[in-house]
Amino acid sequence: VPVIGVLALQGDVREHVRALTDAGARAAAVRRPGELAEADALVIPGGESTTIWKLAEAFEMLEPLRLRIKEGMPAYGSCAGMIMLADRIEDGVPGQQTFGGIDMVVRRNAFGRQVDSFEEDVDFAGEGPVRAVFIRAPWVESVGTGVEVLARAEPGGRIVAVRQGPLLATSFHPELTGDARVHAYFVEMVRRDGRER
Ligand code: GLN
Repeated sequence: VPVIGVLALQGDVREHVRALTDAGARAAAVRRPGELAEADALVIPGGESTTIWKLAEAFEMLEPLRLRIKEGMPAYGSCAGMIMLADRIEDGVPGQQTFGGIDMVVRRNAFGRQVDSFEEDVDFAGEGPVRAVFIRAPWVESVGTGVEVLARAEPGGRIVAVRQGPLLATSFHPELTGDARVHAYFVEMVRRDGRER
């Protein structure tokens, strides 16, 4: 059983640990480089991307995380976590940095201009409708050719879930609904990655 770390600098860590456990994985909180080294994969939770970025710097986790992602560690980011996995962001605070990895432009607080939070059923990766909770959520403004679009939401058919190789990101929070299918999808990605190594 792979050990999936949950980056525990800020955000809804406990909910992800629970969803991963429900999906049959072992989950462990990751705060320090040593804990990161012991994880086979990583979930970056929802929360506030500016805070996660600043704490990652303070805990000397920014470079170790970038390196692991570059080396091909599977990672899944929800909401703020999606922002952290984006190569480029719009509407960040001045100087805001990400871990990067996914060739996409993500706009922070994008839906928030119209409505702060909402729920909607989205078709995720052809798995049928998944209840998606959006809270001051980003959307994906554009993707590079290597990025697969896994879900879109109204209004506007905006991209809200993507995958590039071992990296997965959603604008929404499947950890808040009690439905572990998105986490199960990620756990399966991690298992496959383990078999290929
Ligand atoms: N707006 C937040 C950010 O910029 C994300 C919100 C969330 O994770 N629910 O990081």
